Amino acid sequence: MNKYLEEALRVAKTSRCRYQHGCVVVSNGRIVSKATNKKVGDPKTAWRKAHIHAEVAAVLAAGKRAPGALVYVARVLADGSPGDSQPCKKCEGYLNRVGVAKVVWT
Ligand SMILES: [Zn+2]
Repeated sequence: MNKYLEEALRVAKTSRCRYQHGCVVVSNGRIVSKATNKKVGDPKTAWRKAHIHAEVAAVLAAGKRAPGALVYVARVLADGSPGDSQPCKKCEGYLNRVGVAKVVWT
């Protein structure tokens, strides 16, 4: 497995969500951001169950380094093995708009 995808898998293991996803953004051969999916909702509002997906959180954190970057997304299953982490349609649209160069997933 690619070393960045391995790192995304390691990051996914730190997610506190039931379905654990992790993402690593690489620009010019360096990791510029990492993130897990996470709960972002305000418990007092109708948005209490809102979650941000790992790839969106990581790309937001990468800021100006995101366009042209490589994005590695991983999901880890309960037994520690990689699960399917193909970005959902919303994330795919977001990644396209930002202009990342390539997306690789487990
Ligand atoms: Zn998504």
